[in-house]
Amino acid sequence: MTTKSEALFARAQKTIPGGVNSPVRAFKAVGGTPRFITKADGAYIWDADDNRYIDYVQSWGPMVLGHNNAKIREAVVTAAQNGLSFGAPTEAEIIMAEKVSQLVPSMEMVRMVNSGTEATMSAIRLARGFTGRNKLVKFEGCYHGHADSLLVKAGSGALTLGVPSSPGVPADVAQHTLTVEYNNLESVEAIFKECGDDIACIIVEPVAGNMNCIPPVPGFLEGLRKICDDYGSVLIFDEVMTGFRVAKGGAQARYNIKPDLTCLGKVIGGGMPVGAFGGRRDIIEHIAPTGPIYQAGTLSGNPVAMAAGLAALNQIDNDAMYEEIFTQTQALADGFKAIADKHGIPMSTNVAGSMFGLFFTDIERVTNYQQAINCNQEQFKVFYHGMLKEGVYLAPASYEAGFVSSMHTADVVAKTLEAADKVLGSL
Ligand code: PMP
Repeated sequence: MTTKSEALFARAQKTIPGGVNSPVRAFKAVGGTPRFITKADGAYIWDADDNRYIDYVQSWGPMVLGHNNAKIREAVVTAAQNGLSFGAPTEAEIIMAEKVSQLVPSMEMVRMVNSGTEATMSAIRLARGFTGRNKLVKFEGCYHGHADSLLVKAGSGALTLGVPSSPGVPADVAQHTLTVEYNNLESVEAIFKECGDDIACIIVEPVAGNMNCIPPVPGFLEGLRKICDDYGSVLIFDEVMTGFRVAKGGAQARYNIKPDLTCLGKVIGGGMPVGAFGGRRDIIEHIAPTGPIYQAGTLSGNPVAMAAGLAALNQIDNDAMYEEIFTQTQALADGFKAIADKHGIPMSTNVAGSMFGLFFTDIERVTNYQQAINCNQEQFKVFYHGMLKEGVYLAPASYEAGFVSSMHTADVVAKTLEAADKVLGSL
């Protein structure tokens, strides 16, 4: 039964555009009624009609410890008792910067912001100001938030809704964004040969998670590092999604590549609205107040948000926990694939740490945007609603990665696969 969600959705649409505050929540890609959520705990969420779902969205990535983590909740309550915002520095911000530097050593200095969008927007401004160059290179299907320069051939909701290059972005701005193919070094080399002297930075999702889940092929990230070194451009890893998720130290630890700048979000806030960017000291020192490149935020480093984030980061500093999440993620993806094979449904899967992707395709290994968008969308829709009916909540669009948390035990994974067996068997 979804009567309450249906009523809430109808009411929401009168005063909220599309009934949602972020587009991909609207179920446009899969049709039907978005579930209005009332509470969440561990691996589960509950909707307004009291249906319980195993959740593989995990707030789109932040909840690597599962929902409603007791230590995060208590830290938030304690911090809130001392006031919600001061607009003046606090010790918690120092502890946060120190913790981030410890977990991600390439981030020698760290500036806190309020979202992933702010982190990437600020990082590219910094790269441009630092190099005195205009152009940036991004990859088709990668999403870096909704700043003007980055909404060119973007992934995630922009791709799902068919507006990867949004109206409202002036052509004068978009002309400085050069888009090349993910996992294709030749396309990057070619663009650098053409105008490398005016390229401020490459920004990349080191594991792409906004065109479903596409890990880097061997040599790709290494190649980007070398090209940036050769041309004096800044290498920015957008680890908003991969940070503290594909490894404790993010994708840069998993693949052993050191970017110049890193953007973080999601897990770093423990569920609160937090982002961060940081990296090489000699670059970061160019931002205000030590340098002339401007960047600021009334609520940046907010004490309640810092408390939540620190409570999360202190708990994820745990290698055994990551091993277990990775084991469950692999078991889940392998299980889906085996079940699809059994029922004769073409499926390919990708896994990177605690991120996974399911592709309805007969391509053995999906490695780029074109392959991702050519998958069978109609089959995904039917599969999606079947899983929802069986109590499994996946991202309501096929261009999104799935997320596993430390609360997704072997038992939860087994229940998910039981549901998948029913649903894939009926396709
Ligand atoms: N970068 C990446 C890789 C993301 O996945 C996202 C959001 N999904 C963003 C940036 C933007 O973050 P936010 O939605 O917090 O602005």
